[in-house]
Amino acid sequence: MSALLPLLQAAADAAGEFAPKAVGEVFGARALLTQASYVAASVCFMLGLKALTKPESARRGIRLAAAGMLLAVVGTLIVEEIVEYHWIVGGLLLGAAIGYPLGTRVPMTAMPQRIAISLTFGASAATLVGIAEYLHRSAAAMPRAQAAALGFEVLLGCLTVTGSLVAFGKLHEILPGRPLTFRGQNLVNLGAMIGALGLWGVLVADPTAAWAFWAMAALALAIGASFVLPIGGADMPVVVSLLNSYAGLAACATGFAIGNTVLIIAGALDGASGFILSIIMSKAMNRSFGNVLFGAFGGTTAASAKSAAGLTVKSLTAEDAAIQLGYASKVIVIPGYGMAVAQAQHVVRELAELIERKGGEVKYAIHPVAGRMPGHMNVLLAEANVPYDRMYEMEEINDEFPTADVALVIGANDVVNPAARTDPTSPIYGMPVLDADRAKSVIVMKRGMSAGFAGIENELFYADNTRMLFGDAKQMLTKLVTEVKAI
Ligand code: NAP
Repeated sequence: MSALLPLLQAAADAAGEFAPKAVGEVFGARALLTQASYVAASVCFMLGLKALTKPESARRGIRLAAAGMLLAVVGTLIVEEIVEYHWIVGGLLLGAAIGYPLGTRVPMTAMPQRIAISLTFGASAATLVGIAEYLHRSAAAMPRAQAAALGFEVLLGCLTVTGSLVAFGKLHEILPGRPLTFRGQNLVNLGAMIGALGLWGVLVADPTAAWAFWAMAALALAIGASFVLPIGGADMPVVVSLLNSYAGLAACATGFAIGNTVLIIAGALDGASGFILSIIMSKAMNRSFGNVLFGAFGGTTAASAKSAAGLTVKSLTAEDAAIQLGYASKVIVIPGYGMAVAQAQHVVRELAELIERKGGEVKYAIHPVAGRMPGHMNVLLAEANVPYDRMYEMEEINDEFPTADVALVIGANDVVNPAARTDPTSPIYGMPVLDADRAKSVIVMKRGMSAGFAGIENELFYADNTRMLFGDAKQMLTKLVTEVKAI
């Protein structure tokens, strides 16, 4: 317990609403238990985040984070200020009734919109706490620092609520995925943001200025929607990650406003990790962060991409593909979004095991933005019990393609588009891609000639060493398994 004292002191300082007090002065026995549970929860969150950085320990990371959340909830439920539990029990039941199906029934391919709608809930909670706190406390007696934290919480919370709702609508195809723009939109958004910050400044200078509080909240709601509407569907996962960061910062500000340490810590972790993830995703697409947010990518990209007019594709049958795979000594599998849609990961592993039994070597090449969220392919392949040591990151495997007899592309498109290396006019020029085209032969499995997420043509499909295997990934792989067995 003695090791916890410095941390509890820090918690006491925060609980003392910006006027540090001694641990004993602030905490009774129950409050001490609450603060101890917050410290334990925060440690679980940090260890959980660390474990999430590797596929081998990711499941442990999620369990640790869930245990942390349980500790934080239980710690909060025992605080002395709670006078009755009716509403709380109602809220817990409602939350569980919504959260359980969201966690168990939503398919992996719909994960980005699932996260977007969860963000709406999280940000709504932070906003409502901020509004309740502003209405509940006497604004006249409110210290400026608290007004600043409350204002920041409501500003970011409102912005995240509408932003993530629009992101959900675009990802779920309720709203058009293309960028919805008008002339001078970025300037209007910038002006609105400056206006909202100005209103926040008025609130901090005079916490009794309720008009500024409500006007700021209304403006932030409008900014959230108008900030996300001009961003194309293809960039929505980056935006969701950024909104995640905003929701974290709003939760952090809530922590300061109501003197809750676990909210400060968890919010800061969420805010920082969401921001870092957005930057990692932008980098993997070779786009600047500013270009993702303000470039309206996806509106006119198809026009600037090379056309495939005059080029022809060569297809092959499952029997021919099976012969190539059955006799190959090295196969590199490139999974993409189509594998996730088809839920073909288990059949992929079955096929790989068959090839290995016939003496071939099989490796999996994982592009950082294959699929629709970071780690999407790793999660699916791990679920199908593909050994982690067979999954290679792009930088690790790219040099091996020339030695591969077959590059087997399963529902991937943009992440193997050679235009990213060779065509300076391509919108994805400069994006690091998997060099599948450098393999001795390439088999591309997809249903037709539809473009990928970026909406552009892919020259790989027309290359001399490429053969298309048209069909749903799962059905085709099942056929391949039967055919390879028969060899
Ligand atoms: P992709 O470029 O979106 O292409 C997926 C391909 O799968 C499509 O061309 C589609 O062609 C095919 N497909 C769909 N359903 C299929 C099925 N049932 N069976 C077989 N094929 C199927 O996918 P990707 O190569 O994985 O690239 C990911 C894209 O998402 C990149 O542009 C990336 O920048 C973007 N993105 C990813 C993230 C992330 O974090 N992962 C974040 C933001 C953006 P058919 O319809 O012809 O079958």
